[in-house]
Parts: sequence; structure tokens; C-alpha cells
Amino acid sequence: MRHLMFRVALTYLLWPVLFFGALALTSLGAHEDGMSLVWFNGVYLGLAIAIIALERLLPHERVWLDDDRQTLANLGHTVLNKGLVMVAVVVTASVGLASAVQPPSGSTTGLWPGGWPVPAQIVLGLVIAEAGLYTAHRLAHAVPLLWRFHSVHHSVTRLWVINTGRFHFVDTFLSIVMSQPLLYLCGAPAEVFLWTGAVTAFIGVLTHCNIEMRFGVVSYVFNTPGLHRWHHSMDKSEGDRNFGENLMLFDLALGTFYNPDRRPPVRIGITEPMPASFVGQLLEPFRSER
Ligand SMILES: [Zn+2]
Repeated sequence: MRHLMFRVALTYLLWPVLFFGALALTSLGAHEDGMSLVWFNGVYLGLAIAIIALERLLPHERVWLDDDRQTLANLGHTVLNKGLVMVAVVVTASVGLASAVQPPSGSTTGLWPGGWPVPAQIVLGLVIAEAGLYTAHRLAHAVPLLWRFHSVHHSVTRLWVINTGRFHFVDTFLSIVMSQPLLYLCGAPAEVFLWTGAVTAFIGVLTHCNIEMRFGVVSYVFNTPGLHRWHHSMDKSEGDRNFGENLMLFDLALGTFYNPDRRPPVRIGITEPMPASFVGQLLEPFRSER
């Protein structure tokens, strides 16, 4: 009995421990000028390795441990997306856009409440970014042209940590365009950009994991694996729900929140065909007969 209670408590604690633990570790490595990106990437990699180990120890769906022959394609999309983000940073910086629109670390412009405690500013940054991310994601499901790109992400038949970066680069580009300029326009300081990015990265890597966990009230604040498994359902009445990337407040406010008290489907994916190869997946959205 005591053993069972301990196990249940553990399943409730895992998500908060992994998420807030990663944030706490990231802040430990921060220096005077703000977050250390090298340190952050180390924490991110450590979290991914911990998740891979926990997926083997405590799988949510045992059949999702079977190889779907998509690991190389998933990693290909991940590398391309990381490259795209870096190119975006370099291009913005080299044309001087960054200094024109983004204030340096520690300073803010007009609208931004720079006097607030930093954690409160980060929460505000997350809410503002979420408005763009939620809209981009909802449109990606509703507009057939955008679904062509987003369906690459949904075409997986199992969820695990390596799916995290599996997005067509056009899909990623649209999410960036819909969210980052909002923060620029509000005058958010560089520190808020970095922490918003860190939270998005940690939530993203947890969201797709195949670990048996419970979430309770956490699912009413953050996007959790429990909610995201419904989002990957083949049934549109379940899949066109839970669009939040980090926070669930827009789903709750706009009626797309979905968290029934039963197990999400094991069979996930899309009804349209999707090539198995990385290059095939990159080209698929551009095929006219789709
Ligand atoms: Zn989606």
C-alpha cells in the first residue's frame, strides 16, 4: 500500500521536478549579463538524456518504445530547425535589426514594465508569446495550406522525446514570425527573450515524452504530455484541441481545452499519406496533388 502511494506521488512529482529543476539549474549558470547559452544547452541536453532513460524505465505506452524508423528523419528536422533559428538570429543581428527593435539586456522601452520583478516579466513574456504561438498553431490546423506543413509533425505514430524537433521548417518559421515580433513590439528586454526561449524548450521536450506521469492541476496552467497526447489523436474532435505551446490559458479561454478523465489513444497520426524519408517529408507539402 505504502509502495503504491509512493509510486502515485512520484508520478505527480515527476513533471514539476523535471521542469522546475531544469529552470533552477539554468538560473544557477546565469552570470551578470544574464543567461549562459552554453550552460542552458548543457541543461537541455541533460534533461533530454534523463527523459530518454525515464521513457525506458516508466513508459506511458510500451508499444511506443518500438522503432518507427523515423529517428533519422526526426533528427534531420531538428537540426534544420535549430539551424533556421540560428540563421534568423545572425541575419537579424547583421542587418542591425536586433539593436533597432530589441533593447539590450537590462533596458526596456516604453510599454514594457521593466520595474517588475524579473520572474513576473518572464511570465508576461510567456503570455505575450503564447498569444502568437496559439494563433499560429490553431491556424496550422484550420487552414489546409498550413496543415500541409504542420502534418509532418502529426504524422508520427508514436510519441517520444525525439519527436520534439520534428517540424517542417516552414511550420517553425511561421510560429517564430507569429510570436517573436510581438515581444519585440512590446519592448521586452533580451533577458525575457532568453527565458521565454528556455521555458519553450523545456516544455517542448517534456510535452512529447513517453513517460507515465500524472499532472493534476499542472495541466490547467502548462502544456503537459497528458494534454498533448490528445492533440496527436487521429480523431479531429480530440486532435483539434490543446493548441497551447507552453500555457493553456488561451485554450481555457477560447474553449479548445480538452482533458477528459480517460486514457488518450495509443494509435495516433494522420489520415493522409506521408513519405518515410526526411527529404520526402520536406517536399511533400509542395506537391500539387495533395
Ligand atoms: Zn498540432
